[in-house]
Amino acid sequence: MKKDDRGERLGRREFLQGTAAATLGVSAVGLPALEALAETGEPSVKRYVTLGKTGLRIPDISFGTGATDNVDLIRHAYDRGITYFDTAGGYPMGKPGLAEKSLGEALAGKRDKVVLTSKTLIKSDTNRRQLMNRLHSSLARLRTDYIDIFLNHGVNDLDVLRNPEWFEFVEAAKKQGKIRFAGMSGHGGHLISCLDAALDEDLVDVILCAHNYGQDPAFYERFTRNFDIVANQVGLPRILEKAHAKGVGVLVMKTLMGSRLNDMAPYERPGSTYPQAAFRWVLSNPNIDGLVVSMKSREQIDEYLGASGQGVVRQSDLRLLRTYAEMNSETYCRPGCNACASACPDAVAIPEVLRARMYSTDYGDELAARSTYAELERDATACLTCSHESCTSACPYGLEVSSLTKQTAGALGSV
Ligand code: SF4
Ligand code: SF4
Repeated sequence: MKKDDRGERLGRREFLQGTAAATLGVSAVGLPALEALAETGEPSVKRYVTLGKTGLRIPDISFGTGATDNVDLIRHAYDRGITYFDTAGGYPMGKPGLAEKSLGEALAGKRDKVVLTSKTLIKSDTNRRQLMNRLHSSLARLRTDYIDIFLNHGVNDLDVLRNPEWFEFVEAAKKQGKIRFAGMSGHGGHLISCLDAALDEDLVDVILCAHNYGQDPAFYERFTRNFDIVANQVGLPRILEKAHAKGVGVLVMKTLMGSRLNDMAPYERPGSTYPQAAFRWVLSNPNIDGLVVSMKSREQIDEYLGASGQGVVRQSDLRLLRTYAEMNSETYCRPGCNACASACPDAVAIPEVLRARMYSTDYGDELAARSTYAELERDATACLTCSHESCTSACPYGLEVSSLTKQTAGALGSV
């Protein structure tokens, strides 16, 4: 027996029919052979969810292309039942455009079976003509005439969020059938205020934001004794609840709290790995529709799908998450936190600098790290000669901020 997103108990056959076929509004013919997979015990998507009021049906665990343009991997994900793909004109980081091209190639002939999201980075003065041109480029690379969800990418500034040209562009693109829904993604220091404004002003159909157990006060409340890592991010759970209540589709990313996966190998066993534990944590939140994660190998896809359909956190999960949090808490910059922002007289974009560092040290993705760092308006160059280091004492989570930003400037600041 499986459980669908309404919590009803369904038989396996009904479950499969009620998800893959009926939910996408397409014939079962040509869909990934999920039933066959289930019978052989091969990993596959076990749960499809409705993405808020969009009505789109997507898997609970979906494929992010921020770190890959591998056609074979995309096909493998599709064969495992993954029918939602998240991309951006700038993906994979450092090789813009190639992820959309690969999706176009891998999913040729399957457009009516999948849901596609793309995004574009904008500024407060980006105009609708530029946006329409970028959309046309994405459509061409994706080999499609519409994108299901188009997002204002990495929003971290209210002026960018409220750029009126974006909304004129969205209205025109929707009318022309080139996009179906729009919204914002974000993981920067001003995430909370941007999401609050987006929801209060009804600016979004869908949000995609960074969220993991390490930001969630509820996680730390499970360990009221003997766990001295400070809880953080009281704002995000409130926002996820508000978004869900409004019918906005809620997707989360960066669910692995930095993705130092090799560190966890000694503590894992089959069926109980660190990523599966982290996914079960976010999927247990009824305000979250689904998660998007970078998938870098066939083995990783299969491992990740081991958590699909599992919205209950186990004791063994808590042990793994706690171990990881204790090992990494003092170097992990919490997405959406901005507590050190006013502490730096040089206005260094500390969370963004530390995100670039994370791509390098945690993800091992040097290209993404360098391209992210190179795009910063206020990088960490000033840190190299800073002597007061006031940012460090401003971090409530004990990060040696000045040391981390200096390291990052040294490692990523040179060409
Ligand atoms: S080290 Fe100095 S310049 Fe760099 S972020 Fe901290 S306070 Fe700002
Ligand atoms: S360095 Fe610390 S205070 Fe600054 S954004 Fe990251 S977690 Fe928050």
